[in-house]
Amino acid sequence: MQVKRHALLSPSVGTQRELLSFHYGLPGRGEKVYLQASLHADELPGMLVLHHLKQKLAGLEARGELLGEVVVVPVANPIGLNQTLMHGQLGRFDFASGENFNRQYPDFLALLGEQIASRLGQDGEANKRAIRAAMGEALAAIQPTTELASLRHTLVSLAYDADVVLDLHCDFDAVLHVYTETPYIEQAEPLNRYLGARAVLLAKGSGGASFDEALSGHWWRLAEQYAGRFPIPLACLSATVELRGETDVYHHLAEQDAANLLAFLQHRGVLAGTAPALPEPACQPTPLAGSETLRAPHAGVVAFLKQPGDYVEAGEVVADVIDPLSDRVSPVLAGVSGVLYARGIVRYATAGMDLCKVAGKVAFRSGNLLSA
Ligand SMILES: [Zn+2]
Repeated sequence: MQVKRHALLSPSVGTQRELLSFHYGLPGRGEKVYLQASLHADELPGMLVLHHLKQKLAGLEARGELLGEVVVVPVANPIGLNQTLMHGQLGRFDFASGENFNRQYPDFLALLGEQIASRLGQDGEANKRAIRAAMGEALAAIQPTTELASLRHTLVSLAYDADVVLDLHCDFDAVLHVYTETPYIEQAEPLNRYLGARAVLLAKGSGGASFDEALSGHWWRLAEQYAGRFPIPLACLSATVELRGETDVYHHLAEQDAANLLAFLQHRGVLAGTAPALPEPACQPTPLAGSETLRAPHAGVVAFLKQPGDYVEAGEVVADVIDPLSDRVSPVLAGVSGVLYARGIVRYATAGMDLCKVAGKVAFRSGNLLSA
């Protein structure tokens, strides 16, 4: 195992942060898998999962059972990790710019441009190598000018040539769910089944330039753009794994999640031996555009009637919002049928506040599909 330290751009005199990556196995041997946790720095279940995974990987490497390369970044956001305001940790948005740490990653389709065609031919594997080489060149030409930009650049530079990228997040209060891009549905299925995902949300570009889609999106876009001219593989299965809710930080869950991730790696051929039998799927994938966010119709106290993981029918009451001055009680009804996969943790709603999300089967939204 190799530890690499990556200095981030210093934002201020006398201040210097660094990012640490842990490299198991040998580069160029088998598949490369990249895992990171806590890009939203206050989402901590993944950090504990990667702590447990690191111990397991060290043992596997020592026994010669690692057939590929695994790169682990357990603390993907040292900037956000140190953002505390009045005793509350705020790790989703950068204090300096207000930007979401999981937005504004590079658009490789634009960076590669039309000139990539001159490097492509009839061999899909060769095209994969040529595209990755061009991605590496494009990244090397970028000079970040802020600490946040240097963090994003460092993370993408570690992950851009991986076959599998898993970005471990969590929601406020949720069951385990996964976001990935529709063209990768077959590659993602074993991951979803080993993890026991209760919702799988699919989109072809959700519009936020998130980390996961920056690494997977240009492959299917290039494949569509050059269909009939050059074969281009779906070379990077990238997924955002939401490891339940923000307080679901327990050894027993993290150990099980780490074991499930290893089962998936074994299934991909990154670990020696036969992978455990695939569990039955705990859900069927649904379109991200079919996910309904229920909102408070007015301000008040929120009393939920449904829990994360509950299946709700359209028209069912999911929560009441109560104004204790007027004694107005407003039931909040699900507009679609599906699993209530995530809900908020705050029990006082301002008017219009997001309350919870239901994974409906039929797409009805368009435009940017991600929350702020
Ligand atoms: Zn997150």
